Amino acid sequence: RLPRVVIVGRPNVGKSTLFNRLIGRRKAITHPRPGVTRDAVEETWELGGGRVLLVDTGGITSERGGIFEPLVRERALREVDRADVLLLVLDVTELVPEDEELLELLRPYKERLILVVNKVDNEAREEMAWNFFSLGFDTVCFTSAEHGRGIDELEQEIERRL
Ligand code: GDP
Ligand code: MG
Repeated sequence: RLPRVVIVGRPNVGKSTLFNRLIGRRKAITHPRPGVTRDAVEETWELGGGRVLLVDTGGITSERGGIFEPLVRERALREVDRADVLLLVLDVTELVPEDEELLELLRPYKERLILVVNKVDNEAREEMAWNFFSLGFDTVCFTSAEHGRGIDELEQEIERRL
């Protein structure tokens, strides 16, 4: 069984862009419209001489149901339960109630969770990103999935936890 690294987060925070950036080639569908990716996408990923399964959980949240719609929630929790490392992705430019719900839902999984603050494209946004330490998670990584910033650091952090 390969270790599972599971990417979670509300629609439009950049999960699929991050997935593609990490995998290094196009695989998941990315789209500016929120909630466009339907199903979890998995790829085997070479990381530091080992192999892991990287999972993009595009279908975990939906515009209609939110994360507390029972079926959606059940599927989300199953994916989360199977994860060896969880990447909870947030958008540095906006923290919304749906993020807060996810943060609370995933707090019990704190030990295996890396908070990924994405869309940190430049130094101005880096300043904004420091606020996210106050959310109380041990590991916070700043990334710009779109521009490839902070990806090496994130990979090292994932490796450390495998
Ligand atoms: P998902 O719904 O969480 O899978 O988000 P997507 O990966 O589909 O990205 C949603 C939108 O955010 C797209 O328009 C992306 O181009 C954009 N995006 C993703 N990562 C970044 C980033 O690091 N910086 C900026 N500025 N935009 C990003
Ligand atoms: Mg997606």
